[in-house]
Amino acid sequence: MTRDQIAEHLRFAAELGVAGVSRDPAWRLRTTAPSIPPASHSVDDAQVEPPPVAAPHCVDHAEALAAIKAEIGPDCSRCKLHALGRTQVVFGVGNPDARLMFVGEAPGGDEDTQGVPFVGRAGQLLTKIIEAIGMTRDEVYIANVIKCRPPQNRNPEPDEVARCEPFLFHQIDVVQPRVIVALGKFATQALLRTLDPISRLRGRVFEYRGAKLIPTFHPAFLLRNPASKREVWEDMKLVKRLLAESFPPES
Ligand code: SF4
Repeated sequence: MTRDQIAEHLRFAAELGVAGVSRDPAWRLRTTAPSIPPASHSVDDAQVEPPPVAAPHCVDHAEALAAIKAEIGPDCSRCKLHALGRTQVVFGVGNPDARLMFVGEAPGGDEDTQGVPFVGRAGQLLTKIIEAIGMTRDEVYIANVIKCRPPQNRNPEPDEVARCEPFLFHQIDVVQPRVIVALGKFATQALLRTLDPISRLRGRVFEYRGAKLIPTFHPAFLLRNPASKREVWEDMKLVKRLLAESFPPES
């Protein structure tokens, strides 16, 4: 990291509400952050998982993801979005063995052009959020509930979600993340099968397909409402703690 990148990272961390950073190298390696307050959340007992779908029988996660991508195909026409102006199917990106997965709503304009999720302004903010908890984009896996851009970035419709979401379930079952962050109202409501507002859902932890699911605000919402970055930072501290609990230090 260059000095400018470090300075920018620290500025963003401060903007997110990070009180301070230790120079001690052991701080980065710690598995329980002293600055994180005791859990005020409770893991919901309710199982909100939809029925599982069969994942490809590949031991290698990268191979299995490639098989899902091939199953979708570059010209998928399973829902009407294929004929409503999409440039390409936007599958997913990142570490096939990721411990942490982010799930958004649908590709936007930049994603539709580049074929990669979260590469526009909201994506750049997501990258900073990931880096703020000491990880890189390459370490996590990122996907959307639906794989094609809706016209004028409208919300995906129920029939489109019904057609496309099984592929996301495949991706989750293959990657097997320990923690899933649902980005924004749409992704959270779609995954949890609820109409509860995101303001009621965030700050809680849900059991979901073998992972802990944490809802938080979408980065695009944060661009319009920067004051909500502090709440996202609280959510990300929870993510960090859950990951640490999943991987206790070796004695
Ligand atoms: S949104 Fe999903 S189901 Fe619809 S055309 Fe695109 S890839 Fe196929």
